[in-house]
Amino acid sequence: MDPLTRGAHGQPPERTLDRPLDRTALLAWLREDDPERLAELWEAADETRRRHVGDEVHLRGLIELSNYCVRACGYCGLRAGNRALERYRMSEEEILSCAHRALDYGYGTVVMQSGEDYGIKTEWLAGIVRRIKAETGLAVTLSLGERPDEDLVVWREAGADRYLLRFETSDEELYRLIHPDLPGRRSDRFAILRTLQRLGYEAGSGIMVGIPGQTYASVAADIDAFRDLDLDMIGIGPYISHPATPLGDRSWVREIPPEEQIPSDEQTVYKVVALTRLVCPQANLPSTTALATINQVDGRELGLQRGANIVMPNLTPPEYRAKYEIYPDKACVSETAEMCRGCLQGRIEAIGREVGTGPGGRRRD
Ligand code: SAM
Ligand code: SF4
Repeated sequence: MDPLTRGAHGQPPERTLDRPLDRTALLAWLREDDPERLAELWEAADETRRRHVGDEVHLRGLIELSNYCVRACGYCGLRAGNRALERYRMSEEEILSCAHRALDYGYGTVVMQSGEDYGIKTEWLAGIVRRIKAETGLAVTLSLGERPDEDLVVWREAGADRYLLRFETSDEELYRLIHPDLPGRRSDRFAILRTLQRLGYEAGSGIMVGIPGQTYASVAADIDAFRDLDLDMIGIGPYISHPATPLGDRSWVREIPPEEQIPSDEQTVYKVVALTRLVCPQANLPSTTALATINQVDGRELGLQRGANIVMPNLTPPEYRAKYEIYPDKACVSETAEMCRGCLQGRIEAIGREVGTGPGGRRRD
């Protein structure tokens, strides 16, 4: 089918797909397997990425500051019930030293991620955010789980710029199965995302693709939800089974007809990334570590060539990395921060892209 074209402001016409991406079209694309049609999707996503966010790939230095977690998510190796995992929480000086390394390496942002760890005290973290802002001037992204609104207010006032909280799946029944509430607190990640936006954070969310019991139709709804939420960042990665979890050992299962189950393979993830780029042209989309884990050869590059524009080199000190085991065989676990930086820069340049400078926040033009 011929792509439609449209021109604007004297630019060459933009290659788009043959019909608007409503829910039905999204679903059809998720089920598409014809290589020629998929090549058309990759090309449209890549061009939309180039036009709206450019050729720069922004680097966000990731600091996995604690693997303690109060939650019992059925998919994640950091869940409280995983007694086999040795727990750690980084010190203030360790975190600051990672932030200074980010500055030395030319990264524009640090992302502080952890389990939902109430040992991370509100004021302690606010002090760290203030020090990072004062000593490095870097953009600060937090991804610390479903913390109360009061904490989000304090951290925003301390200078945090962005917050990441994936809704994981918009299928309410599946979400309730795989993401149990804490006693007396109903988990509502959509409400938290709205709060983050109201507080002036750049808000990021995302999903895992191929969760057992996740349908094609629900992922089409997820992509629609990205559009409705007007997200600044959207992280999309494959679900990777962890044997020490109830989803991994299949003790928690939602039975669905096999033909409804969306796969967790790399091609399906590329489809979701590409479609997301088309419906959210200005959002920042990482080519995720989970994608690089299921295709260690060139998963990261293919993500960048099919809609993504961000990568997150790991700054976590080597002694902690293996303990942040969300899923097994995570890419880059035995590398140092220096190795990650060199490797990612090489991969970005090899595909004709450039490493971005500055904070690389959401564009709104
Ligand atoms: N605790 C915070 C939270 O849940 O938002 C941040 C850290 S959590 C480890 C970050 C993300 O890891 C989750 O949002 C989830 O999408 C992803 N994740 C967890 N388990 C996974 C698995 N088995 N496969 C792929 N991604 C996974
Ligand atoms: Fe904890 Fe996040 Fe893992 Fe859930 S996904 S168990 S909240 S670290």
